[in-house]
Amino acid sequence: MNQQNKIRNDWSIEEVRRIYHMSLLTLTYEAAHIHRQWHDPSTVQVCTLLSIKTGGCPEDCAYCGQAARYHTNIKVKPLMDVGEVIACAKRAKESGSTRFCMAAAWREVRDNRDFDKVLEMVKGVYALGLEVCCTLGMLTADQAKRLREAGLSAYNHNLDSSENYYQEIISTRNFNDRLNTLEYVRRAGISVCCGGIIGLGESAEDRIAMLHKLATMPSHPESVPINALARVSGTPLADLPKVQIWEMVRMIGTARILMPKAMVRLSAGRSEMSTIEQAWCFLAGANSIFTSESEELLVTPNPKLTEDRAMFELLGLHPFSLKENQKLDLG
Ligand code: SF4
Repeated sequence: MNQQNKIRNDWSIEEVRRIYHMSLLTLTYEAAHIHRQWHDPSTVQVCTLLSIKTGGCPEDCAYCGQAARYHTNIKVKPLMDVGEVIACAKRAKESGSTRFCMAAAWREVRDNRDFDKVLEMVKGVYALGLEVCCTLGMLTADQAKRLREAGLSAYNHNLDSSENYYQEIISTRNFNDRLNTLEYVRRAGISVCCGGIIGLGESAEDRIAMLHKLATMPSHPESVPINALARVSGTPLADLPKVQIWEMVRMIGTARILMPKAMVRLSAGRSEMSTIEQAWCFLAGANSIFTSESEELLVTPNPKLTEDRAMFELLGLHPFSLKENQKLDLG
């Protein structure tokens, strides 16, 4: 059964539910088939994620070790210097990354000197020929425009979960705030990176609702990160059970079928996955991973670069080249 060979934004919730609940082998087979229609299954985009400002965040996201109110072991670090960030981006490019993502633990962007510094970082990374992504919290329309003018390719702002479950995990902002920022980003001509996290205590229906929301946006996010909760000691969700690999495969496969053209990014949680488990995720349509020099994805563990290289070699995968990057439609 061929699910789809065109982009659809009119998925019904019943259709999403049916795909999500297909038997795992059928879902993976269908997703792999669609993946091959839209992407080269042997290439995986390697993105480097750098925390440019760590911890001390006023928000209360229940999964996050960077929220100031939780007693975690995260060391608060101020905004990095522009030169340090550019040097890190250069090293990322040399090691095979084609996308460089800068994350700041802010509730929202303020129009101050820190934002001016971030704009300089964006310009510097753009000049290296890398895709530049930022995740800085909520934005105004004007801030989105300024980021675009500085050369920003993409902005990450995850839905995290379903609209219903969102209020269970975050009380300091609401789901509509999320959608507003995404709208400003899109209108500024920046591509949207938007996905979610599983393992927050949500139900299968919440996961289906989140995927439905993403797949019925006016245009699909160009990039859809699928994260497994990284349980951080000291946060309210620290004692939740580990996400099972089959739940990740199901999420990735459903995302691939619903949003065939998107980059589906196997994000947080890889450090707890074996090579075989990650191979299942690639088979189900994931075509991107994150790396970082510090072997941390923001503040949680991430595999070593050498481990990822060995995995690519074993699975016959190769990272996107910068040329392939330029072929991406970032509009
Ligand atoms: S997820 Fe982002 S906004 Fe939420 S507490 Fe962490 S750093 Fe702050």
